[in-house]
Amino acid sequence: MDTYLDLLRFCAFVIVFLTGNFLVFALGGWVLFYKILGPHIPHRRIHAKDPTLAQIKTELKNSWSTQMVFLVMALGLWGLWKAGLTQIYQDPSERGWVYYFLSFMIIQLLHDTYFYWTHRWMHEWKWLKPFHMDHHRSFTPTPFAALSFHPVEAISHGLFWYLIASLIPLHVSWLFIFYSFMFYINMWGHTGYEFWHKDLLDRPLQKILNTPTHHNLHHKYHDKNFGIYYNFWDNLCGTNHHKYAEEYRAIKAETEKHKTNFIMKKLGL
Ligand SMILES: [Zn+2]
Ligand SMILES: [Zn+2]
Repeated sequence: MDTYLDLLRFCAFVIVFLTGNFLVFALGGWVLFYKILGPHIPHRRIHAKDPTLAQIKTELKNSWSTQMVFLVMALGLWGLWKAGLTQIYQDPSERGWVYYFLSFMIIQLLHDTYFYWTHRWMHEWKWLKPFHMDHHRSFTPTPFAALSFHPVEAISHGLFWYLIASLIPLHVSWLFIFYSFMFYINMWGHTGYEFWHKDLLDRPLQKILNTPTHHNLHHKYHDKNFGIYYNFWDNLCGTNHHKYAEEYRAIKAETEKHKTNFIMKKLGL
């Protein structure tokens, strides 16, 4: 009976958690970029066309089914945890705080690798390709595209949590904190607006980071730019799109031109 109640409580918590994340990052991102900020920052815009209503409807429908898949998979993981079949732990002092914070970096690097390779395979393997094309229905991606996946692709994303929970000691809080972090970064990648520094690609330590322009080119051409947080794997495997630097610099040049015009206008020149 207690286990039953625990499961129901966990289920309710996950529903609230997933809904909250969607409202903050997807809906919040869309309102921020397409209703509040967007009209004032056309010089930061990556794509010229507006998303169609049909595309947004598809993104919302797919996001709903993705979250259903995540809910079911979260319940499955909870079951494995309670059965002692994972390395999930509850007391942070069990592994120490150094490990607790280090876990974030470990999860991020593992997820970056997992995302790059599963994403690349989805583009290369005939039997995986059909399942990934739902995400590519977003020609001019919006923050709603962040979770716009076919259920099979959603399962492949969810499996990452099973993998790390069995591979490394994982404090339970990271399952939720890292999900929010992933959603936040994913939302940025789909905003359609570029905010990174104009010299990012010329700075050796910073050009390792991926940008919204990078992912936008992936939606445009499909065959390159598979990474999520970092450019490490794309760089190493030669899968950066050859137009990446050129397009990034063109958007940044537009932003700089706007800044100069704005200052000159203020000075009355
Ligand atoms: Zn995308
Ligand atoms: Zn893709």
